[in-house]
Amino acid sequence: MIHKKYSEIKKGLTAGEFSSSELCKAYLDRIAGTDPKVQAFLAIDKEKILKSAKESDERRKSGKSLSEFDGIPIGIKDNICIAGTKTTCASKILENFSSPYNATVIEKLLSKGFLLFPRLNMDEFAMGSSTENSAFQVTKNPFDLSRIPGGSSGGSAAAIAASMLPVALGSDTGGSIRQPASMCGVWGLKPTYGRVSRYGLVAYASSLDQIGPLSNDVSGIAEVFSVISGKDINDSTSSATPSFDFNSVGKSSLKNCRIGIMAGEGASWEEDVRNKFQDTISILRDKGAQIIELDFSIHAYSIPIYYVIATAECSSNLSRFDGIRYGLRVATSKKLDDIYLNSRSQGFGNEVKKRILLGTFSLSSGYYDAYYGKALEARILIKKSYDDYFKKVDFILQPTSPTTAFRIGEKTKDPIQMYKADIMTTSVNLAGLPAISIPMGLDSKGLPVGLQVTAPHFREEILVSFAKELEGWKEMNVSLPEQIK
Ligand code: GLN
Repeated sequence: MIHKKYSEIKKGLTAGEFSSSELCKAYLDRIAGTDPKVQAFLAIDKEKILKSAKESDERRKSGKSLSEFDGIPIGIKDNICIAGTKTTCASKILENFSSPYNATVIEKLLSKGFLLFPRLNMDEFAMGSSTENSAFQVTKNPFDLSRIPGGSSGGSAAAIAASMLPVALGSDTGGSIRQPASMCGVWGLKPTYGRVSRYGLVAYASSLDQIGPLSNDVSGIAEVFSVISGKDINDSTSSATPSFDFNSVGKSSLKNCRIGIMAGEGASWEEDVRNKFQDTISILRDKGAQIIELDFSIHAYSIPIYYVIATAECSSNLSRFDGIRYGLRVATSKKLDDIYLNSRSQGFGNEVKKRILLGTFSLSSGYYDAYYGKALEARILIKKSYDDYFKKVDFILQPTSPTTAFRIGEKTKDPIQMYKADIMTTSVNLAGLPAISIPMGLDSKGLPVGLQVTAPHFREEILVSFAKELEGWKEMNVSLPEQIK
């Protein structure tokens, strides 16, 4: 049962083939057997999960199901607040922090009867591309345990890939849903900025952050997205655009659809990634799609723009972790400055400290215009480039990541190489657009390759219908290697 796709699990529950308790037990057994190798979960509360599953089964039996989703397990990244549950952001500074309230997305999932499987590992405060920045453990890629699962939602992607869950929530500031989805061979959707409430998501870079789903099929993404999307009075940046309606989405027709690709070749793309991408484009062309080349030269600046803006916002957002209001307090003296200094020095990991320093520097009065101000102006140019593209094409295709999963430790000494993993994903966040990562088969090492599809603002239905069209193509097939089966 655990190797089933999300849609089969939902069908099985509805048809009474198995109960939610049976399903959860099967997943919990799988987690007990497999997670010691993969390390996707920071913790798992078996009793709480089984108790909720039993309640769901009782509701179903008495005809009082909360929705068609009642009893479906869903994983939760450890930066999304659940009342009475630890939310650590994989950081020592929040190691013992228990959230007093539910994030809006959690309220919405619970109101439909979803069963929560917290706490999935991540890079500390979602800063990273490999999940190696977690203060607690490094999650492994189920396709090769010596490799990273991508990041920062590496726990969410690896748990789904290793059949420990059918669907999970992640967050995406510069690629953190799409890049791990790509590296673990699962589907991942980063919604339009504002389409999903950020209330209760621990902030990294507020003008870029979005919560979104990862799943082992397209229905999982579409249906969870439909539940979590919509206006929220607790998040003033949430949009009044109506919630996503998955029932209205059919398969897209490839005949005459206009697909944009970047002109020239991505110099940093691995050969296997380039080959897979070109194969996919040829199939689409054969099926009648129009392939249109676009000038992406401005996107060469998206990494520096992103890292200036994201670090500036993170330096401000993380100032709240001061040893007084939240989490770890190291009070070796009574002086307030010492408490701040010692709590933050001991509580934050190196990558987070580096970003706070960088962001504080670029926001300082002497350098604001040269760095932060400039990055804001350049961000507008990136956004404008997409406005121009979408006059010519319906959506844009790129590989999600220039490489497949790299080895643990391979890029930790070279931050620029690590940041370059985000070359295709960060522009999408800078422009606030929706994008999906679709599994595009395996490379010659047996590692998953991902296809990123980007659409205009609030047009997630195009992404879902395109993904449905590609789902089931044998060329895109990704099956787990024996060692983890
Ligand atoms: N890898 C990027 C970063 O380190 C993106 C992370 C994210 O999307 N949360 O900032």
